[in-house]
Amino acid sequence: MNISENVNISHLTTFKIGGRVKYLFQPQSIDECLEALHIIKNKKLPYFVLGEGSNVLIGSRDYEGAVLSMLGIDHIEMKDSNIKAGSGMINTKLSQYAYDKSIKGFEFMYRMPGSVGGSTLMNARCFGSSMSDVINEVKTINKSLDVQSIPVDEIGFGYKKSLFQNRDHILLEVTFKAEQGNPEEIEMKMRSNEERRLSTHQYDYPSAGCIFKNNYDLGVASGKIIDDLGLKGERIGDAEIYEYHGNFIINNGQASSEDVLQLIQLIQAKAKADKQIDLECEVQFHGQF
Ligand SMILES: Cc1cc2nc3c(=O)[nH]c(=O)nc-3n(C[C@H](O)[C@H](O)[C@H](O)COP(=O)(O)OP(=O)(O)OC[C@H]3O[C@@H](n4cnc5c(N)ncnc54)[C@H](O)[C@@H]3O)c2cc1C
Repeated sequence: MNISENVNISHLTTFKIGGRVKYLFQPQSIDECLEALHIIKNKKLPYFVLGEGSNVLIGSRDYEGAVLSMLGIDHIEMKDSNIKAGSGMINTKLSQYAYDKSIKGFEFMYRMPGSVGGSTLMNARCFGSSMSDVINEVKTINKSLDVQSIPVDEIGFGYKKSLFQNRDHILLEVTFKAEQGNPEEIEMKMRSNEERRLSTHQYDYPSAGCIFKNNYDLGVASGKIIDDLGLKGERIGDAEIYEYHGNFIINNGQASSEDVLQLIQLIQAKAKADKQIDLECEVQFHGQF
């Protein structure tokens, strides 16, 4: 297994922000992941898990613990009416795999950043579909190192919510429902989803996508609330509220976690003062701030 010491992990996030960590474990299989967890447990190290790092803000300070990057666990197979994928499988590759087999329901994942594990934990969603729509079962290992298979109805899925957010589980593998569809319709949806993302300039700068959850009770998206507060273009250090999307903070090059955090706090304070709205972060915080 690949174990590195004293490495900066900013390149493992789409924000390109993050400090040096004491150990970086990059298992290439479930067995290697179990091995890594035994080492971490024996050394009594604090640790956190990373998928594609597309929904995290990692502290820029040194972290005297371990990071477990799951991207090497990216096996995939289709059997009977299921697709089984390792938690490190990238969403776009899963979507392409499903398309190659004429399986519908995975179009929304096309060009949505993230891995199967992180996206399941976040119950990532777009264009009217969520991860929970296509999941049958999730194989995890908990902090006591017990492996479990958890059926979809026991995962407590909701809007951007799952029981895995309590951080007691490491997701190893996800089993998805595989339903035959029309290849032309599948391809059309994938292309149209990609087009919508490109037209809103989502990939032009490093970011973690939407910073805040939407509150559907308000009937207005968080991005629109931030636009209305006149905050677009506001900048702290190299972190900036994105001109194309008020709910994105972009990294103009050298932004630190502190810059982003201050910008988040500024938005929350203004939303509260001007509109009495509490904006809840979607982005997950890890490491040393
Ligand atoms: C340009 C852009 C556009 C985006 N668009 C969308 C969108 O349309 N819809 C949407 O929902 N999200 C969107 N996002 C956010 C992001 O793509 C999703 O939340 C994604 O599912 C996160 O997956 P990840 O593998 O990158 O998770 P990470 O960011 O690596 O991790 C997220 C959380 O999950 C944990 N985690 C990751 N893998 C595991 C694992 N195997 N076991 C246990 N815990 C794990 C991490 O510790 C962290 O707490 C966007 C992000 C970007 C940068």
